[in-house]
Amino acid sequence: MSNVSPEFDKLLKLSADIGSDPLLVQAAGGNTSIKQDDTLWIKASGTWLMNAVDTDIMVPVSLPALLTALDDGNDHAERAQAFVDQARNPAGLRPSIETTVHAVMAQRVVVHVHCVNTIAIAIRNDAQSILEQKLAAFNWLLIPYMRPGLPLSRAIAKAAADKPAPPDVIVLGNHGLVVAAETTELALELLQRVCRALEQPFRKSRNADTDALLTLAEHSDYQLPASAACHATAINEINCRIAGGGSLYPDHVIFLGMGSAIAATDESANDVARRYAQNALSPPKQILFPGVGTLLHHSADASTEAMALCLADVTARTAADAPLNYLTNQQNDELLNWDAEKYRQAMNQNNT
Ligand SMILES: [Zn+2]
Repeated sequence: MSNVSPEFDKLLKLSADIGSDPLLVQAAGGNTSIKQDDTLWIKASGTWLMNAVDTDIMVPVSLPALLTALDDGNDHAERAQAFVDQARNPAGLRPSIETTVHAVMAQRVVVHVHCVNTIAIAIRNDAQSILEQKLAAFNWLLIPYMRPGLPLSRAIAKAAADKPAPPDVIVLGNHGLVVAAETTELALELLQRVCRALEQPFRKSRNADTDALLTLAEHSDYQLPASAACHATAINEINCRIAGGGSLYPDHVIFLGMGSAIAATDESANDVARRYAQNALSPPKQILFPGVGTLLHHSADASTEAMALCLADVTARTAADAPLNYLTNQQNDELLNWDAEKYRQAMNQNNT
């Protein structure tokens, strides 16, 4: 294929590697891109980075056309679908909902991850001052939370234009991390250095009480998660309080719903589902039983599992006294009612 170049192959390998690390990428989250001539090759919406070597997950987008649409304020820029080179897109894939973020980065290779260590800082309202210390050696920017897609890419472009040199490390408030470089090798090296600089201590949790959980799940639509590590959100009192405050980042809202369901003392899974139904809410994907463990709804797929694990990983790395920014009701709503996200979820189900 015309996209094949040694650099492209290296990016696929990097994509598969980072996509297999749950501390960096969960499910269909995160994306990578490379600019070759006038083409931006970007991960397709709903595909998983971990499959990058074995499956066709990259879509060719005309970079000049997309950048012109962005400059003109053309709404087609949001999905970038109108600028796909369909002749080189035999699988009919759609570009990632974060394509414009990649387009506005000046560098050739762009890597975007939902790194849990970064998120544990990016959800704090004092993130700027923490990053000033930890990222002093980097050319970086913190962008306060914006809905992924056009609003976010516009904010990045505007903030980057004010810097003397294009920044190559962008921390996305309540979201994740973008690094960029001229080669895949340099992008990987930068990613590793930034992740090391942002590494957070994490609270260990004791094991879940699975017997008690199975009793709480009796005659309900709930089951134990596949990964025992998911229980840490509920078992540790601090983790549970942090999760209980609301939604902390977009993919949580998309795959687990708004906020977290926490069972009251003596409430079973059925009791919680009933309480939700009384409030005209669909049954929660995940229920946290404080001090006991967590249960997932039978409908939970690999993405739900991955996001339950992500919540355990993020909350365990968030300091007990951290001043946190939770997504507002309006920010939750705009994620839940976003057509591009609905497409990603549908694609995601086909990929698992
Ligand atoms: Zn993202």
